[in-house]
Amino acid sequence: MKGKALAQLKLSVPAQETPVDKFLTASGTFQDGELRLNQKGLKLIREETESLTPSQTQSSDANEEDVQFALEDLETIKVIGKGSGGVVQLVRHKWNCKFYALKGIQMNIQETIRKQIVQELKINQVTQCPEIVVCYHSFYHNGVISLVLEYMDRGSLADIIKQVKTILEPYLAVLCKQVLKGLVYLHHERHVIHRDIKPSNLLVNHKGEVKITDFGVSAVLASSMGQRDTFVGTYNYMSPERISGSSYDYKSDIWSLGLVILECAIGRFPYIPSEESEGWLSFYELLEAIVDQPPPSAPADQFSPEFCSFISACIQKDPQQRMSALQLLEHPFIKKFEDKDIDLGILVSSLDPPVNLPEFKVPLYQDILS
Ligand code: ATP
Ligand code: MG
Repeated sequence: MKGKALAQLKLSVPAQETPVDKFLTASGTFQDGELRLNQKGLKLIREETESLTPSQTQSSDANEEDVQFALEDLETIKVIGKGSGGVVQLVRHKWNCKFYALKGIQMNIQETIRKQIVQELKINQVTQCPEIVVCYHSFYHNGVISLVLEYMDRGSLADIIKQVKTILEPYLAVLCKQVLKGLVYLHHERHVIHRDIKPSNLLVNHKGEVKITDFGVSAVLASSMGQRDTFVGTYNYMSPERISGSSYDYKSDIWSLGLVILECAIGRFPYIPSEESEGWLSFYELLEAIVDQPPPSAPADQFSPEFCSFISACIQKDPQQRMSALQLLEHPFIKKFEDKDIDLGILVSSLDPPVNLPEFKVPLYQDILS
């Protein structure tokens, strides 16, 4: 099919007086109108989808910088998750054969609002931090904003705690250190609040790397509906000052992180009554408990003093009393395991992966063209 289309193409050599750099990109790609030629082959680029951002500034992997993304180049392998905004799919790039997570956010919105969202997503994508999931590219097509994300092959912390129930302190320290580094970047370098730190937004790969994702997405979703301060998602990890409608700052992410880490340690969401006590909290009871009751803490008879102190440094109802991400990186709980060579990769590799990747044959150049 593609072979036939290509056979009908007339290739014309640029006239002598045309400067070569009009056609050649830094990566050695020749491009003229809809035609692109590089070491990966010859390709017709159609303008079916609107590409929102260039990938050059977003990539932490130098090899990815040359990758041209078009929706038609991404083949779906499997749906890997569903959130309140849309579906996340595992996709494979037809040309470089690498895997990515494609997150679709359904949005039937006006052109002006779309431009605003695009602008916000664009700002959010310029991240150069190993502890933040890379967003390589985004598209807008048929009312859906699609984000091409770094694929984290061990899923989220939510997937992991479903399997292991609890995570031991040494692993929690290693995991937490990475999340704190991501938060230091967001809070102290980018001066932004994540707003939705929770187990499903902390992703893990087989190397044991933990990265924060969905930074800014919930704010963008809310603003697209004309409700800038309306939250889309779960309220479980939301700080008391946000629930009660007071002003809040980056310390509200620290509250959320404290709850997530405590949940991983004790094996249940800290505000849900333990199995021995009766009943579950309703939505309103939960919000009331977060705002009115003393904050949860780590049981001193089950956990180290360093861990109990770390949790209490995060889960303080008064945001002023909470430590910052920078201070927490220096906390004795994080320091305690720093030179112990704890490998989170070994823990996650012993678990079932969220997706069993099928074996793929790397296509030959001729196969792509025919
Ligand atoms: P909500 O929409 O309420 O925030 P959520 O975070 O679970 O919930 P999504 O962000 O849409 O919703 O993600 C759905 C699931 O897809 C996640 O729980 C995670 O398991 C998976 N996922 C998301 N991004 C990636 C990624 N980059 N790599 C691997 N898996 C991912
Ligand atoms: Mg998410």
